[in-house]
Amino acid sequence: MFNKILIANRGEIACRVAATCRRLGITSVAVYSDADAGAKHVAACDEAVHIGGATAAESYLRAERIVEAARASGAQAVHPGYGFLSENEDFARACEQAGIVFIGPPVTAIAAMGSKAAAKALMHAAAVPLVPGYHGDDQDAQLLQREADAIGYPVLLKASAGGGGKGMRVVERSADFAAALASCKREAASSFGNDRVLIEKYLTRPRHVEVQVFADRHGGAVYLFDRDCSVQRRHQKVLEEAPAPGLPAELRRAMGEAAVAAARAVNYVGAGTVEFIMTGGDFYFMEMNTRLQVEHPVTEMVTGLDLVEWQLRVAADEPLPLAQEQLALTGHAIEARIYAEHPARGFLPSTGTLRHLRMPEGVEFIVGEGGERAPVRIDSGVREGDTITPYYDPMIAKLIVWGPTRDEALARMHRALQGCEVVGPHTNVEFLQRIVTSEPFSTGDLDTGLIERHHDALFAPAKKPFREALALACAALLAREGGAAQSASPWDGLSHWRLNGGYTQTLAWRDVDNDSTFDATFARDSLGAGTQTLAHAGTVDAFTWWRGSNAHEFGATLGDARVTGRVFADGDTFHVFCRGAALAFEWQNVLAHAADVEHGEGRLTAPMPGKVIAVLVEAGATVEKGTPLIVMEAMKMEHTIGAPSAGVVEEVLYAVGDQVADGAQLLTLKVE
Ligand code: ADP
Repeated sequence: MFNKILIANRGEIACRVAATCRRLGITSVAVYSDADAGAKHVAACDEAVHIGGATAAESYLRAERIVEAARASGAQAVHPGYGFLSENEDFARACEQAGIVFIGPPVTAIAAMGSKAAAKALMHAAAVPLVPGYHGDDQDAQLLQREADAIGYPVLLKASAGGGGKGMRVVERSADFAAALASCKREAASSFGNDRVLIEKYLTRPRHVEVQVFADRHGGAVYLFDRDCSVQRRHQKVLEEAPAPGLPAELRRAMGEAAVAAARAVNYVGAGTVEFIMTGGDFYFMEMNTRLQVEHPVTEMVTGLDLVEWQLRVAADEPLPLAQEQLALTGHAIEARIYAEHPARGFLPSTGTLRHLRMPEGVEFIVGEGGERAPVRIDSGVREGDTITPYYDPMIAKLIVWGPTRDEALARMHRALQGCEVVGPHTNVEFLQRIVTSEPFSTGDLDTGLIERHHDALFAPAKKPFREALALACAALLAREGGAAQSASPWDGLSHWRLNGGYTQTLAWRDVDNDSTFDATFARDSLGAGTQTLAHAGTVDAFTWWRGSNAHEFGATLGDARVTGRVFADGDTFHVFCRGAALAFEWQNVLAHAADVEHGEGRLTAPMPGKVIAVLVEAGATVEKGTPLIVMEAMKMEHTIGAPSAGVVEEVLYAVGDQVADGAQLLTLKVE
């Protein structure tokens, strides 16, 4: 076994690998960019090497620099994590040439799986089932059209060198084929420098089911069962679980064996994932990922194994720790990926400092020794106070739960999500909660169209404990403004609220979720007998409040209901977490608010740091509310900025190609 390895990655996966190193007594070396000098993964490792600037191209993608860092630090092996250089043949080769073990498959296996068409030819030879289709060398347009007609519509065109869904086109009718082919080839050429395509039968309502495989250098190869990753948005996984629900034992075995055959066909070594697309009881090879997957923890939870430990052992030439007959599934595990993003705005990434970050109680990273399972596991690469930047993937954490049955795991996930509190960037926590509690997910009726098909229900306005949260926000504001001590009356020290012997005070609030304003009025009767009321939107409730054991804990009674929760004030915005929901109320501090309005009018600002990729209007243009004005790109995603109201564009302040900071004013609009 190695005694020192370098981890060529960042974020949660670097922390994850470091945790196994720690347990096995292996010294770990981190690499970091300018943006990551204070990052959690640097602290998680024993040593660290600075490798360059903030962008991935200047740091985590610099193969030579990383190999050099490994050599200089005396590491015997490099763990590439996932993403970045993990499936890069040149990097794997450079490690080998420097006499450093690449913890992954041989270069030849990475290369064999790099082209979808070539991989399919290999899989066909190994008798692994393929989606009916065409993946031949002859790319003559008329031949492709005839093949598509023979397969039967709808068909799916894919770029052979593709990834990330780029170039993919669904073609519904023969008449549309030629145009779709031209467009697929254009996108493939510009994205991958290679316009080769393949055609597949387009399956309706398929499931994405993948199999974890492992192989060693001694002829051993096993499957560690399956995962269902059907719940996707933008072809990116959101919720994953193991085992795939509802697979009969024979089907599970058949898929496992097909995956092992796929691995053997390319002389695979190490951890790999064979992705299948499934309809009914039929499954077809889609692609093989030649690395550890983001969702590997669900497999660890149901097998009780540490997959990173297996990777290290195999890379150190040891045989696989267990044979197929020794592997068993216990219970059910589900992973939810918590992202800094705006689900309601097309899942646009959100950036900013994590001003408050609280995860439910659970263990970090590791499956218990001896296969003991924790009910909740959290894999996170950030801490409170860290910043989600536009440079890297905006994942905050992976929340993984285990239960003896799927229903019990689901119940734990529901509860665990209620325990996730984030103030700073927007997150998908509420969206995850909705999927988890939705009818198709909770009954295990999974397919890749789940989010789209249930869009209206998943994005409908949430029913939240509004009155209770408002009571807590009021309590926190009263505590702050009144400087009240624990359980003291907020009315003390606020003599200017006195009226006719009683007290009344009206606070103006903005409900941040719905961008609506309202008033809440407090009163205590003139006898001073202590009866307080909170009035809002026609309701009047008896009201008392108190402080909990720490600075952010508050409690209140509102009529007959008693509520406790946590409140975090970010300036005048009060973020309230209670009854499993997150709400935010902005106190309309009259003076501060007047200044905001003055500055905000007619201005359009960048919602995130990024690059301007299109300017759609010129100065002088008359626009309607919603007219697209500027397109920005950040984190490889496009975002269109529309006019907030009708008006005339006065000045455009940035041009195509300009880099803009978060909140930068992009243009000025004279509102009509
Ligand atoms: P990429 O490598 O670009 O991500 P994949 O081949 O892995 O492309 O496919 C990505 C996703 O597209 C799959 O998870 C599935 O949801 C969908 N998909 C792929 N092939 C088909 C098909 N033949 N029919 C229906 N959906 C498909």
